[in-house]
Amino acid sequence: MTALVDGFGRIHTDLRISVTDRCNLRCTYCMPAEVVFMPREELLSFEEITRVAAVAAGEGIRTIRLTGGEPLLRRDLDGLVRMLVAVPGIEEVAATTNGLLLAEQAEALAAAGLGRLNVSLDAIREETFEKLARRRGLDRVLVGLAAARAAGFRSIRINAVSIRGLSEAEIVPLAGLCRREGRHLRFLEFMPLDAEGGWGAEQVLSGAAVRVILEREIGPLEPLESADPGQPAVDWRWADGGGLIGFIDPVTSPFCDRCDRLRLTADGQFRNCLFSTTEWDARAVLRGGGSDEELAALLRACVAAKRAAHGIGSPAFERPARAMYQIGG
Ligand code: SAM
Ligand code: SF4
Repeated sequence: MTALVDGFGRIHTDLRISVTDRCNLRCTYCMPAEVVFMPREELLSFEEITRVAAVAAGEGIRTIRLTGGEPLLRRDLDGLVRMLVAVPGIEEVAATTNGLLLAEQAEALAAAGLGRLNVSLDAIREETFEKLARRRGLDRVLVGLAAARAAGFRSIRINAVSIRGLSEAEIVPLAGLCRREGRHLRFLEFMPLDAEGGWGAEQVLSGAAVRVILEREIGPLEPLESADPGQPAVDWRWADGGGLIGFIDPVTSPFCDRCDRLRLTADGQFRNCLFSTTEWDARAVLRGGGSDEELAALLRACVAAKRAAHGIGSPAFERPARAMYQIGG
């Protein structure tokens, strides 16, 4: 069996594929207020994406997550899902979305074979939502979440980025909503991937700090053993039986030693980390008449160059030139 193993013994089985850098929100922690998107011809076609996925599957990739920008803005996304679930070796195709277009698309995506869905929702008060997203849309996300459940997705997780000074008042209402509706909420620490370079360590509201607020305001939490070691989220359980709640702490508790992810940007660049400062140009191979073996070799080179850790907080840390919406979160 082929496997994508890096110099630290990490085996890579997950490929995050960005399908667009466009978005219908302008979250401050991800995008600039004024943005120039990639020209459409730079984006990989569905056929190109599927070819990369097939080569990657041959090298050991087993799961794919579609992201962006906002993936549901890519026309006929369900068609791409259909193509990807048919790739031999791919066991699951998932997506991360801001949920604004889920009401319209949930059913078609489920029918196409999309497995898991992560829906990003940082706030349930319109004022905070708008402050973070620079656009309105909370009601549409809530309708979209209901539509996703009705469409029968077996796993829907809600991801909330928490930022000190902005998110504190949202934590308890968000957790309350998820407890009432039996939804799996995960808090995610703010990473230095905003487009305007405004990130500062003092803005990171750690998972531990969020837990203090939750336990003080709602009740005790008990840690769970993570079932999947590649999963960055650490889940806790409400002691009163109110379900699970997770914490993804890339800044205060990096999980680089367990990382099994690779990325393909919308313009066809392989990356071995969100914080890569180097990219491997798969589009040049695809459009230059390169063979599948050349694509596979490029992917292996990308894996071989992976660093031990992102290094946030160390003096040598270098922010990548691209922001989150250009990489694919
Ligand atoms: N537009 C989709 C969405 O918002 O879910 C998919 C792309 S978005 C880049 C993927 C995830 O990255 C979202 O959950 C978003 O909140 C998160 N994200 C974006 N910028 C971030 C940052 N600087 N730090 C932590 N998470 C971030
Ligand atoms: Fe768009 Fe998602 Fe970035 Fe927000 S986090 S601007 S929804 S890509």
